[in-house]
Amino acid sequence: MARYTGPSCHLCRYLGEKLFLKGQRCLGPKCALEGRSAPTRGRPKGRRRRISERGLQLRQKQKVRFSYGVLERQFRRFFAMAKKTSGIAGDNILILMERRLDNVVCSLGFADSRAQGRQIVGHGHIRVNGHKVDIPSYLVEAGDVISWREASVRTAYYKRRVEEIKGKTTPRWLSLDEQGMKGNVLALPSIEDIDTRFDGTVVVEYYSR
Ligand code: SF4
Repeated sequence: MARYTGPSCHLCRYLGEKLFLKGQRCLGPKCALEGRSAPTRGRPKGRRRRISERGLQLRQKQKVRFSYGVLERQFRRFFAMAKKTSGIAGDNILILMERRLDNVVCSLGFADSRAQGRQIVGHGHIRVNGHKVDIPSYLVEAGDVISWREASVRTAYYKRRVEEIKGKTTPRWLSLDEQGMKGNVLALPSIEDIDTRFDGTVVVEYYSR
């Protein structure tokens, strides 16, 4: 599956807000939207272009899509799935994004960012219920156990993670066994577990036109 390979910070600049795509870097002064590198710095004051309602909806949709690192075609497929599932389509699309294996790997602290999570999964380092799963868009189910492939335990990356993961807090629908470097999906996420920056209703409005 093709994916966006350009600079992540360009996506934040394009939307004019932080999407936290690069892990720790996003929290420090090196962030492209912080301090001296903030896009508004040095820009002449003038009239701002008014964004249409459609433009605002597009931005909201792109914010979700960029944040989870999903291409438009795949995102539309997820949206079609969300509409077919019972419940509110806007909530369903966000819940589906949250259940992606690359996101779960990141939420457990096995990766710094979703992009890194996608790489770890794609390279076959992760097992789900003991079976190798190298599909980042794999949707976890309640009861799934996320662990590492035996050979990956010897890598320098894994050893660094063991140190960095100490004291990590996970979302309430996941649990982490720090010693065993294993994650457990306690239940499927609900809309209360999703980042409040995302608005699924606007995503539905965007695709419903
Ligand atoms: Fe966005 Fe992170 Fe880059 Fe800052 S460092 S612009 S939050 S991706």
